[in-house]
Order: sequence, then structure tokens, then C-alpha cells
Amino acid sequence: MGLLLANHPSCASIGAATGLTAKVDLSTYRCSCGTRFVECDFWRRVADRTVEQGHPVTIFKKNYWNTHVRISNRRWLNGLVVSSLGNRSLNALRDATIGTVAPVRRRVAEARVSSWSLARAVLDETDTSVFVDTARDHQRPRYLAGTPQLDVKVIHLVRDPRGNSASIMKHTGVGVARAARRWRHSNVEARRVRPSLPPGAWMPLHYEALCARPQETLDRVARFIGIDPIPLADYLQTTEQHVIGNSMRLGAVSEIREDRTWRDLLSEGDLQTIARVAGSASHQLGFDWP
Ligand SMILES: [Zn+2]
Repeated sequence: MGLLLANHPSCASIGAATGLTAKVDLSTYRCSCGTRFVECDFWRRVADRTVEQGHPVTIFKKNYWNTHVRISNRRWLNGLVVSSLGNRSLNALRDATIGTVAPVRRRVAEARVSSWSLARAVLDETDTSVFVDTARDHQRPRYLAGTPQLDVKVIHLVRDPRGNSASIMKHTGVGVARAARRWRHSNVEARRVRPSLPPGAWMPLHYEALCARPQETLDRVARFIGIDPIPLADYLQTTEQHVIGNSMRLGAVSEIREDRTWRDLLSEGDLQTIARVAGSASHQLGFDWP
């Protein structure tokens, strides 16, 4: 979705606006333009602009930029302070207590203004008006929503839990129950964030609908964002991009086709497990299956 939108003349995307993880090797990591990331002129200019704007973004550091809402490198502490606690009232209680402590408030404020600074710099550099952030952090919209400089809109792109579980199993090696729980966790938490945004700023979207009716779906996305609809062929026309993080970044999207390999990969027992774990949550998100 990010790669498609990045080809729209009004949009710019650099992938996840939270930067690179700790795992990458910056000395060899390549930007999607083919240049080494640390030597890419685009990224140098964007970094300079963020400095000129008075809110430097830590672009050439890995293990996330200062645009990422994170208060500690300790996962458990982060989980407690800024992630979801798995329940709306608990989250509200936490936000009204720990969330008001000065260091937490400062960190959230820094992530917000840095996110603005990054987006502003990329938009100015590319002469576009809409910044597309593909970060898959379900809590990120909640933190960005109240930022005065940002007009945040969220596309909640969801895939059928059967297809997504099979993909998680294939890419991470986890079992079917765990994969289904990951699907449920991400999507239930994302849905919990929806009331943090004004009505009209949230668009649920099924991956299968995008694949089955790409033009109609992308027109709907364009109307939601407030940009001109363009022909599908233009979304597939590769333009100059400097995307990081997505493994598809070094190739190009030439067609939109649904990945249906899960139909062969999952056994009857797997399907039952997925139905038990993710069935009811998926029904609430509009998936119609047993
Ligand atoms: Zn580049």
C-alpha cells in the first residue's frame, strides 16, 4: 500500500517513519534508490532540513529514530508506559497517571514534533502534500492524533486471518496458534485506537478488496485522503523513491494480485485453530467466514 501510494503525484513515502531497527547493518544497508543509505543524497538533504526546522530527526542512527514513541530500550518498561495494556480502561488509567509524568510527556512530545519535522522535510524535498507513514505500530496513531501540526488519517489495512497467519508462519517460523494470536492482537489493538481519532479520519480496508478491485479501492483511498484519483497504471509506474525498511523496497510493484497460497499451506486443523483464536475478532472487522 505504501509503495502504491508513493507513486501518487501528491504523496511521498519513505516507508516506516520510525526508522531502521537495531538489526540492520548501516555500513551496508541500501536505500531503495540503490545507494548506501548513509550516502544517499536525498536522506542527507532531509536530515539537514530537519536541523534547519529546529527539530532534528536522528536519521542516520539505527534502533529507531526519535520519531518513534518509545521511552526506554527495555521492552517491558515500554510495554507498560506507552504500549497498549490490552484494555481501554487500563490504558486510560495509565495515561492519566504514568502518562502525565514529565519524562514520559517530554518523550511523547519529542516523537510528535520529530514526526512532523520528518514529514515536513520529506514533503518539501519531494514537492508533495501528503506524507504516507507505513509504520505498523498500532499505537502510533494514538500518539500522533493530537499533534497540532499534523492532520492524521489512518488506513487500517487488514488481511483475512487465514492468509495473514499463514504468512506469519512462513516468515517467522511460529506455530499456527501463535500466528493467529499475533493477528488478533495487532488488529484488536488497532481497532481500540480508532476512537482516539475524529470521525472520518479512520478507514478500514481489506487487503482482499484491494487485490480484487484495485482501481475502485484506490479511488476510495484517494477520496479518503483528499487527493485526486489516478488510473491504476499510474500507481504501478515506478517513480524515484527513497524507501527504507520494506523488503519489497528494492523491487517494483508491477501488478496487484492476492496471495492465496494459504489455501494450500493450512490444514483443516490449522483452520480450526485460526477460527477459534481469531474468528470472532475477524467477524467484527468484516470478514465473513466460519
Ligand atoms: Zn535513496
